[in-house]
Amino acid sequence: MSGKTRSTRSIWTFRSIMLVILLVVVLPVTAVTSAGIVAITIGKSTVAMVTGILVICLAAMVFTGAFILMLLVRKNARVMRQQETFLSNITHELRTPLTSIRMYAQTLKLGRVTDQEKAEQCLDTILKEAARLERLIDQMLIWRRIAEGREIYQRKPTKISDAVKDAAGSFRAMVDHQNIDLIIEKIGDEVIVEIDRAAVADALLNLMFNSYKYSGHQKKIQIECEQTKKGVELSVEDNGIGIEKKDQKKIFDRFFRLEQKTETGTQGVGLGLSIVKHVVESHGGKVNVESEPGRGSRFTMIFPPPRKKRSDSGTSNEEEKRKSDGGRG
Ligand code: ADP
Repeated sequence: MSGKTRSTRSIWTFRSIMLVILLVVVLPVTAVTSAGIVAITIGKSTVAMVTGILVICLAAMVFTGAFILMLLVRKNARVMRQQETFLSNITHELRTPLTSIRMYAQTLKLGRVTDQEKAEQCLDTILKEAARLERLIDQMLIWRRIAEGREIYQRKPTKISDAVKDAAGSFRAMVDHQNIDLIIEKIGDEVIVEIDRAAVADALLNLMFNSYKYSGHQKKIQIECEQTKKGVELSVEDNGIGIEKKDQKKIFDRFFRLEQKTETGTQGVGLGLSIVKHVVESHGGKVNVESEPGRGSRFTMIFPPPRKKRSDSGTSNEEEKRKSDGGRG
């Protein structure tokens, strides 16, 4: 059964449950409340008044319960829909590179490629598709560790340019080089930040690969690093399809994807930006996006500047704190 069919079925299940709640609870409650109001307004005795008030209170309680139930059903339906879409996306994401790996490997095995250059192109594609598969699996594992609260970052003073070089190396192994203008400049060889190098390189790779996926034929991807009052800003800018203002906040939500038409097809499972946000926020920083549909996007990760060392004793604030904690204990 396709993801779309399953998703349509769950929408209908959700609508049916809402309809049942409406018929079984809301309509009778409205009728009972009206009876209560009538009893209060035209009832002459105290008993009629008290009965009317009790009936209205009871109706209000039932109504509140039904309302909460509707909210829970709605939330549940949303999670189910997300899971179904995620499953169909992940199946597609796994199948596409596997099919192409099998096809190219078969072509080579059958000896259909006699030209050395063409054989190398086939091998290159196999390697790139394998790298993308590996990346997808890595993303799933990272997401699982984050969901279970097991993703811990080892922060050390690091040259930001080292993380950029790592990300650029992995990026080159995943993409076709034609038609990409990758500009890596001003990445501050001297800029030091307290980061988990592997995690930040991975977050940057997510942003770079998104720029690649969501850009047209002539791709321009620019990476820059700047030290500002806010901290150390590492940004990735592209000339891609851009994102509408109303979606710019939502794209950082887990599993959220926009139905955008790109030349590379709809690749992804909606985890990349939520992982980027988690990495940056766990470092005490934040990530933001500036974008305009049709003109491109600029994603910026802002990391706090490294804590200053005490010049007299040569110890950092953290070491100082640890010592004083130890002293107290
Ligand atoms: P995925 O790329 O796997 O769908 P992400 O979490 O990385 O998931 O991104 C969420 C959504 O944000 C994407 O589906 C896409 O619609 C949008 N998006 C992310 N980066 C860009 C970009 N550079 N340009 C245009 N749209 C983007």
